[in-house]
Amino acid sequence: MARYTGPVCKLCRREGEKLFLKGERCFTPKCSVERRTYAPGEHGRFSGRQSRESDYQRQLRGKQKAKRIYGVLERQFRRYFSDAQKRPGLTGLNLLQILESRLDNVVYRLGFAESRSQARQLVNHGHFMVNGRRNDVASTLLAPGDIVAVRETSTQRDYFKTLRQAEEVRTPPTWVDSDLNNLSGRVIRLPERAEIDGNLNEQLIVEFYSR
Ligand code: SF4
Repeated sequence: MARYTGPVCKLCRREGEKLFLKGERCFTPKCSVERRTYAPGEHGRFSGRQSRESDYQRQLRGKQKAKRIYGVLERQFRRYFSDAQKRPGLTGLNLLQILESRLDNVVYRLGFAESRSQARQLVNHGHFMVNGRRNDVASTLLAPGDIVAVRETSTQRDYFKTLRQAEEVRTPPTWVDSDLNNLSGRVIRLPERAEIDGNLNEQLIVEFYSR
């Protein structure tokens, strides 16, 4: 599946906020958003971020931000939106739940990676099994009850050995069950809205695609 391969920090600067796309670096003073508080590009410094945004601009930015956070390109994001519309309930929440249930996101949520992009790389390199079977497709949508585990052969790698012994670990959200000692985890249920990043505005995404 195609993915964005351009400069990552520019994406945050374009949105004018930290999207935490790079893991540890995002929490240091090296973060580009902290060093350069203006949008990228020739006119970034002088762009009218202070000027009034149109509804379209707000909707577009809301959608772009979600795509960038989850590392999904337009065509697939649009497909997720169509799927979300077909599910019962609120389309916006359905969309966020679909994005959260991607295998790369679950690997990130379980604490096996510092960022979603790192999680995606680990998955693409075939280090994980889902329900006992090797799975290297980062966009696989997981369901409640699915079990994610590091493959036996991969547990001998330095990265996973260090992960096992890590003293400081990120607390996983309550909708997943993480067992770092055994390098495995489980999806308990789909996340509630309050358990998903609060700075996403799914309503703007719905409005964007409903124009
Ligand atoms: Fe975004 Fe992280 Fe880069 Fe900061 S360091 S601009 S939060 S990706």
